[in-house]
Amino acid sequence: MAEFVITPPPQVSVPVAGGGAFPVRRIYCVGRNYAEHAREMGHDPDAEPPFFFSKPADAIVTGGAPIPYPTETSNLHYEIELVAAIGTGGKGISVERALDHVWGYAVGIDFTRRDLQAWAKKAAKPWEVAKGFDHSAPISALVAASALTPPLKGAIKLEVNGETRQSADISDMIWDLPHVVAELSRYFELFPGDLIFTGTPAGVGAVVKGDSVTGSIAGVGSVETTIA
Ligand code: MN
Repeated sequence: MAEFVITPPPQVSVPVAGGGAFPVRRIYCVGRNYAEHAREMGHDPDAEPPFFFSKPADAIVTGGAPIPYPTETSNLHYEIELVAAIGTGGKGISVERALDHVWGYAVGIDFTRRDLQAWAKKAAKPWEVAKGFDHSAPISALVAASALTPPLKGAIKLEVNGETRQSADISDMIWDLPHVVAELSRYFELFPGDLIFTGTPAGVGAVVKGDSVTGSIAGVGSVETTIA
């Protein structure tokens, strides 16, 4: 093999509860997967199904590290989400077998430059600058699927400076977890190391420098960060 001409970038990984690390290949995200959130964003969830976008793997932030307030926005929003980590790849995965492909689960925040997203929607431009920026995906430690009941229901919430901003149940998802995995695998072959952010419930809003953000999903864990 030819020698690398620059130092290869480090492998992004997420710590696993109880020890070890999960290497990250790609981050897929689901848009508008909770009806109330679709409505708060001005869309009719009965007319438009959820859809996919992605973030770069190195947008991951672990260990409760602070995230810098990003440049080029004045409306940074939090979105609390259940994250599924793929351990067994596949394409055209069936709904029935979908959870067999999941190695574990985590709690993540899909930080969004909401002003740039609104501009992108209006201008029919891609979402990358709104969603795929550096430090935009804080995540908790992963919990092995073998260590818990598949998280198909349970409280999902997010607090800013101790005040509840998002509070819902993951059973409110439009596409539940097996359908998310199955649908995604129709478009992309999934590989071990892929993370799937499964969408956020209603209550999204802005944070400013100095805010402390904490999110949790019952039975899965909690994620925290501060805006620096
Ligand atoms: Mn999201």
